[in-house]
Amino acid sequence: MATQRLTLLGATGSIGDSTLDLVARHPDRFTVHALTAHRNLDKLFTHCVAFRPEVAVVGDAQDAMQLQAGLRAARLRTEVMYGPQALCEVAQSAGCDTVVAAIVGAAGLLSSLAAARAGKKILLANKEALVMSGALFMRAVAAHGATLLPLDSEHNAIFQCLAGAPAGGAGVQRLVLTASGGPFLHRPLEALDRVTPDEACAHPTWRMGRKISVDSATMMNKGLETIEARWLFAMPPERIEVVIHPQSVIHSMVAYADQSVLAQLGRPDMRTPIAHALAWPERIDSGVAPLDFLQLAHLSFAAPELKRFPCLRLALEVLRKGCAASVTLNAANEVAVDAFLNGRLRYTDIAHVVEDCLQQAPSSAHENLDDILAADAQARVLAGQAIQRAALRSPSPAVPLSESITLAEGMGARL
Ligand code: NAD
Ligand code: MG
Repeated sequence: MATQRLTLLGATGSIGDSTLDLVARHPDRFTVHALTAHRNLDKLFTHCVAFRPEVAVVGDAQDAMQLQAGLRAARLRTEVMYGPQALCEVAQSAGCDTVVAAIVGAAGLLSSLAAARAGKKILLANKEALVMSGALFMRAVAAHGATLLPLDSEHNAIFQCLAGAPAGGAGVQRLVLTASGGPFLHRPLEALDRVTPDEACAHPTWRMGRKISVDSATMMNKGLETIEARWLFAMPPERIEVVIHPQSVIHSMVAYADQSVLAQLGRPDMRTPIAHALAWPERIDSGVAPLDFLQLAHLSFAAPELKRFPCLRLALEVLRKGCAASVTLNAANEVAVDAFLNGRLRYTDIAHVVEDCLQQAPSSAHENLDDILAADAQARVLAGQAIQRAALRSPSPAVPLSESITLAEGMGARL
């Protein structure tokens, strides 16, 4: 058994934690080539001491110098790099076989794409990359012989249930994505505009980063996942269904033409899908406790209420319209969720901001990466303006808008 050399993009996040837990359980199988983080230096330093990567990447030069000094003092020879270009370098490096793409949001697009273009085995958690660039990304995977394995629990479940069957083929009738419904599944609708970031991040079944937790509360996450499934499995939108399943035991299902339905079950612990993808096509211990059927009181299912979850409605509309609007949907949502998490926007205004941007953004097709990046930047400007309008409309805890973020931030360098 050859050792897999990993680059872990987003090593200090929730997916990063679960991945490194598995690496620590299987030192004979995995070594770490590179670890990356945006700002959380202390955590990255601790991971470097524990996993001794050849390279560590941080967001900017100042953090890079600080990390480098700490690593030298700890007598580690890890090379420190910084900035978006460095993320691409470690994703495409000959020093790694497998790239775990676990940066949150559009910030993960270029490095995920670099891994695809370098023909790596990619374990994709960064769903936003696929939402933004679906056709282009899948073409890069095919053209460069990359292996793309989904980490998102629903897509990993579908991948397992397909067991190699061509998803878009005639034998597969539909994909059924399950959703917990998040913390506000039963909250009275009129109380939703008062929910706080901490309430929105208190997911009933999963422990995740704050952005995806808010997306789960609004069900934008399920909308992004539907778009993700459309590209990953080459599935027509009308054959992808979303079902609320609050217990998060069935992670998703595939219905076949003969009406067999295959489901993948497990505890809501990301170490299961990550272990599956890391070891694929083998199976390894994930450290997750066995599923105890006798403890499962019942499994229930319901249709999502689109009035309660307008973000899901918007994402499903975008899915049917075609790919150009997905970039706008994703960027506007990122900016709106960030504003909500920072107390500048009401929870219920997240959907208003996204809808506003979708109405205003030009619907021209995106031919290449430059078009995608330009549309992303434009949507962020529109979202900033929409947030200011929303703040004027409602007496929310609004504070002045910070500068909108673009993907075209300065490229970094090696120290
Ligand atoms: P998180 O917020 O916990 O971690 C995000 C990671 O990305 C951190 O390491 C952070 O340093 C890095 N990062 C953030 N901004 C960056 C930037 N501008 N440049 C470089 N690095 C940056 O997020 P998470 O919950 O681990 O989610 C990561 C991705 O995985 C998301 O796309 C999410 O949708 C997806 N995902 C997560 C889960 C989960 O259980 N957490 C499940 C399925 C899919
Ligand atoms: Mg998911």
